[in-house]
Amino acid sequence: MIVRCGRCGSGFDVPGPGRHACPNCGTVNEVGAASGPISTAPPPPPVQEDPSPRVSCANCGFSFIVGKVEVAPCPNCGTPVTVGVTEEGDG
Ligand SMILES: [Zn+2]
Ligand SMILES: [Zn+2]
Repeated sequence: MIVRCGRCGSGFDVPGPGRHACPNCGTVNEVGAASGPISTAPPPPPVQEDPSPRVSCANCGFSFIVGKVEVAPCPNCGTPVTVGVTEEGDG
């Protein structure tokens, strides 16, 4: 694994974690297992469950959650499903 000297900044190869002396300046660098730059993206945050209305597709019967929209396309077959979040007045 390649580590970078904390004194002179030169990179050199080491067999693994431990204490290794820099071949350039002689400074002993302590190399950890999880040391150095890690190019791993952090895990995504947990998805919060929103109290969104759930509708069922009239074509294929697929049930899915929709937002505040009047008509949402079915993610299964693409048929526009009327959500009807607007208040319906009788009369
Ligand atoms: Zn060095
Ligand atoms: Zn559908």
